[in-house]
Amino acid sequence: MGRYDIAIVGTGPAGVSAALTAKNRNKSILLIGRKDLSNKVIKSHKILNYPGLPDITGEELVLAMREHLAQMDIEITEEQVTNVYAMGDYFALQCAKEMYEASAVILATGVMPGKLLPGEEANLGRGVSYCATCDAALYKGKEATVLGYSQKEEDEAAFLSEVAARVYYVPVYKEEPEFAASNIEVIRGVPKEIRRDDNKSVLVLNDREVVSDVVFVLRDSVSPGQLVPGLETEGAHIRVTRDMKTNIAGLFAAGDITGDPYQDAKAVGEGNTAAISAVKYLAELARK
Ligand SMILES: Cc1cc2nc3c(=O)[nH]c(=O)nc-3n(C[C@H](O)[C@H](O)[C@H](O)COP(=O)(O)OP(=O)(O)OC[C@H]3O[C@@H](n4cnc5c(N)ncnc54)[C@H](O)[C@@H]3O)c2cc1C
Repeated sequence: MGRYDIAIVGTGPAGVSAALTAKNRNKSILLIGRKDLSNKVIKSHKILNYPGLPDITGEELVLAMREHLAQMDIEITEEQVTNVYAMGDYFALQCAKEMYEASAVILATGVMPGKLLPGEEANLGRGVSYCATCDAALYKGKEATVLGYSQKEEDEAAFLSEVAARVYYVPVYKEEPEFAASNIEVIRGVPKEIRRDDNKSVLVLNDREVVSDVVFVLRDSVSPGQLVPGLETEGAHIRVTRDMKTNIAGLFAAGDITGDPYQDAKAVGEGNTAAISAVKYLAELARK
C-alpha cells in the first residue's frame, strides 16, 4: 500500500472508534497498535457505564471490539510509532519496523502512565532509547538496560539479548518475568532517574544504580510532544478543538490523550468526531 487516507495510531476505544467511522466513510485506513487492543481496557474488571453493555468486563469489550473490526475488514498493524512527521500535504509515520505515509493522522495513543524520569528526555538518542527493535544493532556486544512498563516488553528484552552481551531487565509491574536466555538479569527496583556518566547510562533505582551502555525505556505510549515535533500540548495532553483538530493541519487526536475524564465512552465519542473531521480535511485537501 502506498499512501493511506488516514493513519490511526492506537487501538484503544478511541482508535477503534475512529477506524470504524473512517472505514464506514470509505477511506483507506492504517490502524496501528496491538492485537489485544488496550492494556487499560483489558485491566478493567467491570465497566458499568458503557451504554448498552451493562456489566461488561474489559476482556469482553476487547473481544467485541475485535469482532467488530474483523466484520469491517479492518486489520491491525502491530507496530510502535516512534515519530510522526508533518510533510506538508501528508504525514510520514516512523515505526520500529517500517515507515508509512498517510494524508491525515489521528493520534489515539492513550495517556502515558506516570511522568518522564529526570534525565530521560535530555539523554534521548544519547544513551536513552524508546525502541529496541530500531536501535539494538547499535549495542551489539555491549550492555543494555531495559526498563519494561508492561509484560509485552519481555519480548523486546529477549530480542536484545541476541545482540547485546548482557541485558539488565527492570520490570515496572508485579508479574515475574521469565527468560530463557542466560545473559538477561532481572533487577527489581523503583526507577528514579537516568543520567550519563563516563559515556555510560546509569539507571538510578531506589536502592541501587544499574550501569550499562544504553537504557531502553519501553512504555505502551510516549509523550505526544516527543512523538510529533511541533505539536501543542498541555502537560501530558494534546491541545485539541471541539472537532479534535490539533495545531497541525491534518493531525487529529482522540481519547485519554486529549485530557480527562479518562473514560471509554468519551474516548469512543472523540474517536468518532476525529474520524469525521479527518474525512472533511481530506475533502478540503482534494479541492485544493
Ligand atoms: C483498571 C482500569 C479500569 C477502568 N475502568 C473504566 C470504567 O469502568 N469505565 C470507563 O469508562 N473507563 C474505565 N477506564 C478508563 C478507560 O480504560 C480509558 O479511558 C480508555 O481505555 C481510553 O481509551 P484510549 O483509546 O484513549 O486509550 P487506551 O485504551 O490507553 O489505548 C491506547 C492504545 O494506543 C497504543 N499506543 C500508544 N502509543 C502508541 C504508539 N506510539 N504506537 C502504536 N500504538 C500506541 C497503546 O498500546 C494502546 O493500545 C479504566 C481504566 C483502567 C486502567
